[in-house]
Amino acid sequence: MWRGWQIVRLLILIVPFPLCLLACAPAAEPVTKPEFDAGRSYEYLKSICRLKSRISGSPGMAAQQKLISEHFRKLKAQVQFQSFDAPHPLNGTPVRMNNMIVSWYPKAKKRILLACHYDTRPFPDRDRRQPQGLFIGANDGASGVAFLMELGNVMHNLKISQDYGVDFVFFDGEELVYRENDPYFLGSKYFANQYKTEPRDYEYVYGILFDMIADKNLAIYMEKNSLKYAPQLTRSIWEAAQRVGIKQFIPQAKFEIRDDHLPLNEIARIPTCDIIDFDYPAWHTTRDIPRYCSGASMAKVGKVLIYWLQNAP
Ligand SMILES: [Zn+2]
Repeated sequence: MWRGWQIVRLLILIVPFPLCLLACAPAAEPVTKPEFDAGRSYEYLKSICRLKSRISGSPGMAAQQKLISEHFRKLKAQVQFQSFDAPHPLNGTPVRMNNMIVSWYPKAKKRILLACHYDTRPFPDRDRRQPQGLFIGANDGASGVAFLMELGNVMHNLKISQDYGVDFVFFDGEELVYRENDPYFLGSKYFANQYKTEPRDYEYVYGILFDMIADKNLAIYMEKNSLKYAPQLTRSIWEAAQRVGIKQFIPQAKFEIRDDHLPLNEIARIPTCDIIDFDYPAWHTTRDIPRYCSGASMAKVGKVLIYWLQNAP
């Protein structure tokens, strides 16, 4: 039988021990599940759109380059510019082009390329009322950038499959296009040719392109050129979507799209999939503005991609 004073003595003996443990033990690492923040990605999208048009070589584009490089340098990623000149399609004068390359784990020799274009086309040519109006490309331009900016916030919390390195590449000159026959994909063509011809000691195992991924009514079908050039990769992404329960990734082929993934597949021979929601009524109009976009849509793509990155084949 215990007496009161014995219990008190026992407490005096045992209580300080766990108290000391609590005080002396290093703070446990918080178990954080890497989560893509919908609200924050939408804020990024709006701040990019506040720069108005971001045509290749324009002041809006220069401001965007500053915004992107500051964001990723703060996150301790390596930021590089791949610069070249391209003739302006209307008068042939050189336009300074810059692909931006943001590297995570730059020493890894097997790498994954995650890309978007970050220029906006000069005019909303499909706008019946204002084909020469202001085009700010909230979905067609800003969504890919905002998506990668938010993904950057979780990169250090990811355990990336096979210890792949990852590069975020922002292509310039996707659509410095004034007339139907003006050349598209200036940045990705340059990047692919450099990759093909320059000596290098690393290899891109996969490429994934993000374009128009913020539509409020998100529906992403398997794109036909992606299935043609990168069938295994494309299927693995839609399988990842199924695993995490994102029904907006529909495992059926629908559109055949010419986009920055073509030079990557055809010139650089990097198996690359285009994740694009092409059912977007505001496409190439003055109505491609934040109001028709949603952070929740970008977060759905983010959830799929985070799962895929951690389980990549
Ligand atoms: Zn476009």
